[in-house]
Amino acid sequence: MLTQILKIDENSLKLAENIILGGGVVAFPTETVYGLGASALDGAAVNSVFEIKGRPNDNPLIAHVHKDYDITRLVDGVPQYARLLAEAFLPGPLTMVFHSKGVVCKEVSCGLDTLAIRVPSHEGAQRLLKYLDIPIAAPSANISKHVSPVTSQHVYSDLNGKIPLILDGGKCSGGIESTVLDCTGEIPVVLRSGLVTQDMIAQVAGGCDVYVMKEGERVRSPGMKYKHYSPSCRTLMFDSGETGQAVKAYLQIENAGETPYILCENKVAKSIKVKNVLNLGETESEMAANLYQKLREGEQLADVIIAVAPEKRDGIMTGVMNRLTKACGKIIK
Ligand code: AMP
Ligand code: MG
Repeated sequence: MLTQILKIDENSLKLAENIILGGGVVAFPTETVYGLGASALDGAAVNSVFEIKGRPNDNPLIAHVHKDYDITRLVDGVPQYARLLAEAFLPGPLTMVFHSKGVVCKEVSCGLDTLAIRVPSHEGAQRLLKYLDIPIAAPSANISKHVSPVTSQHVYSDLNGKIPLILDGGKCSGGIESTVLDCTGEIPVVLRSGLVTQDMIAQVAGGCDVYVMKEGERVRSPGMKYKHYSPSCRTLMFDSGETGQAVKAYLQIENAGETPYILCENKVAKSIKVKNVLNLGETESEMAANLYQKLREGEQLADVIIAVAPEKRDGIMTGVMNRLTKACGKIIK
């Protein structure tokens, strides 16, 4: 199959519509990462998303809708706090889980009686969703367990030949996947951290918990149990105070004739005297936006990526650290 990459315009939107209404899939940009979209009303099309990605079929997808879409067509029992959150943060990188009305096909939620809904703010995503005016089921447009894509080229390198069309909307500005929030209870519960943080949610909703899986419990957000975001090269991870250790490991790897790269925040990058550095940047949002780009650059260049954990861990950095440890393994003690 030939994979086209097209800028978003009337022609490419028409083509995307034909593909999706014909049961096919199309990659499209969002403000977080690129998505791989199929009609959420078409079980066979949704199944093919799982097949193309090699995604386990118990890891549910998010239904994407445009900003004027009435979500009560799809879900029941939207609590007042969710309405306030929608006003404050949507369109944007916040996915909310509600009781499903069963309008979208069961394949989207992998048989769960809930449905995750997201309203992306990316202009290209909005145009596509508006053009189709149906819910689009979409996970990230990468091969399962690989690093999520933040450019159309990343999508192409994973899915070339497997999908007919990639809509190109430039580099994703957010860089990590949306916050997933369970809105089926009295107060909202963060199932996956992201750019809309627990504090931001609590301020609007009056409270917000974070889900921690307990021993023996059935996981509430099935995606959390899977290894994710792994670059194709080897990785090591050191704590933020352990730059010396990271440089030591770098020199050992170099002496063994291999190519190491250190992945770190800007202030560490400036302080170390090694040649190969993947600089995540200075601010929290820069680090989120650059993380996957740098991991993908790293896997092309390095035999081993040596990550040094950023110092800050709260707010947006909760999500960044979550992705970084899933990519590079636990901090070496
Ligand atoms: P991805 O599409 O790779 O960004 O992953 C979507 C995330 O949303 C995964 O972590 C899923 O487990 C989570 N998710 C999707 N639908 C639901 C749902 N109905 N209930 C709980 N989590 C969900
Ligand atoms: Mg994903």
